[in-house]
Amino acid sequence: MNVLSTTGQVLRAKRDTDLADVATSVTAGESPANEAADLRRRTETVAATAATHADEVDRAARFPQEAIAAARSQRLLGIMVPHEFGGEGAGMSDVTDVCYALGRACASTAMIYAMHQTKMALVLRHGRGNAWHQRLLRRVCAEQLLLASSTTEGQSGGDVRKSAAAIETQDERITLERAATVISYGQEADGVVTMARRAPDAAPSDQVLVVFLKQDYTLERLVGWDTLGMRGTCSSGFKLRATGERDQILPEPYETIHLRTMMPVAHLTWSAAWAGVAAGAVERARLFVREAARRSNGQLPPGAAHLTRANASLRTLRALVASAVRRFEASDAAALESVDFQTAMNLHKVNASELAIAVVMSALQASGLTGYRNDSEFSIGRALRDVLSSPIMINNDRILANAATSSMLSGVPASLRD
Ligand SMILES: Cc1cc2nc3c(=O)[nH]c(=O)nc-3n(C[C@H](O)[C@H](O)[C@H](O)COP(=O)(O)OP(=O)(O)OC[C@H]3O[C@@H](n4cnc5c(N)ncnc54)[C@H](O)[C@@H]3O)c2cc1C
Repeated sequence: MNVLSTTGQVLRAKRDTDLADVATSVTAGESPANEAADLRRRTETVAATAATHADEVDRAARFPQEAIAAARSQRLLGIMVPHEFGGEGAGMSDVTDVCYALGRACASTAMIYAMHQTKMALVLRHGRGNAWHQRLLRRVCAEQLLLASSTTEGQSGGDVRKSAAAIETQDERITLERAATVISYGQEADGVVTMARRAPDAAPSDQVLVVFLKQDYTLERLVGWDTLGMRGTCSSGFKLRATGERDQILPEPYETIHLRTMMPVAHLTWSAAWAGVAAGAVERARLFVREAARRSNGQLPPGAAHLTRANASLRTLRALVASAVRRFEASDAAALESVDFQTAMNLHKVNASELAIAVVMSALQASGLTGYRNDSEFSIGRALRDVLSSPIMINNDRILANAATSSMLSGVPASLRD
């Protein structure tokens, strides 16, 4: 299912004659089964590269350049873009499958891919036939451009519904100067999607979303990124100084974009990446238990029951993500904006992050000291450090506090199928 169809916003694609037609990686008329197999094969290629370099990326807290180069050469960055713009028309379930597969290999690569695809979904679903954004879609497919995200600002933490910096407009030109607390892969990205107040006299909640390409901005580093986990996301803080055309602003207000796309797609792609990290830890624990049993004439190690628990929790986590993706894909604009959907997608993030940590902890308990060691092939350390970022990325406390009023107002469903 194409991600565009969920809100019925089929882009009226006016062929942009400025740009040469771009080759698509999927031959027109190819069957959906072949397309799916092709995407799986290309994803596996990228995941294998990501896995090879994951430890070194983590150790050096460096950008996973090999994995992202592989994603570019396998043309994974523009998969959601419709065929007519040079993409493959992939849906949210395809994208989350890629996030999961990459998460098993390298959490930072998966999170970078998840953030990029969230930005792509914003442009796709809310560019509304705007020529500048259509050109961008073609360029992402043709040149495999990587888009970063700047939402967190100054001291406001994870409150993305308020902005301090404002767009300044003069004739058709805009400028923006923003103290971005963190911009993952800010240095490496080809563009950044950022929010801002609509104008200097606008309220903090009167926000717009704007896309700037690398030649439009400078980044002055304010703070580095030496963290417990997700070290390869290179999420340093920057002063962002950007100029561009008025057309680079997405036409719809951020409030609408947030409800229909930003929040749900971020939570779906992130949770898919965390599920992948959890799955990677379970696989290591399984290999450890097998190896321990082999060495003891088939006698299972004492922690083996924790592997069962890790598997059980992973099943629940995967089902949680899959059902949330299905719900998103089946929702029209009104359903996406409903209080029930918004609450569900926010709580999905909280549940998925907590469950992902529980899975990794069970995997660690299954493998004991061997899993605790950093110098073991069965080490769970990197997965644990990476997955501990999950409650912080838009803090679970903030989400739970914001959902308190709707929790108080909505009654408990009367039936299991409600
Ligand atoms: C790996 C990673 C990558 C990231 N990449 C980006 C990026 O590319 N671009 C970007 O803009 N941002 C990015 N972020 C930032 C992220 O999206 C959040 O904005 C940020 O993590 C929130 O930081 P915080 O916990 O300090 O802020 P807050 O949400 O303000 O939380 C601060 C503290 O206050 C508590 N708290 C907050 N609200 C409440 C409440 N209502 N009730 C009780 N307690 C509360 C929290 O528990 C927490 O301890 C990234 C974060 C991570 C971890």
